[in-house]
Amino acid sequence: MDQLDGDEYECFTCKQRFRSASFSISREWNRVNYAGDEPEVEIQGSEGLECYCSQACATSRRDLVMEREVAGLLYRLDE
Ligand SMILES: [Zn+2]
Repeated sequence: MDQLDGDEYECFTCKQRFRSASFSISREWNRVNYAGDEPEVEIQGSEGLECYCSQACATSRRDLVMEREVAGLLYRLDE
């Protein structure tokens, strides 16, 4: 996810620059811990992939990003 000068970001869909709260798509990896009475999901890490100025811009790229991420995952499974 590209951050420009200061707190400025550029929308991956419309290229508009913005500073306020954004919408994003992130990759996150978790682990389930079964050792306690109740299973707990531990977030081990996360990486922002793309950010958007609006929900509409995020929705318009969602399928493309997910397709790219799944293709990358399948590629790694084949190795
Ligand atoms: Zn946008």
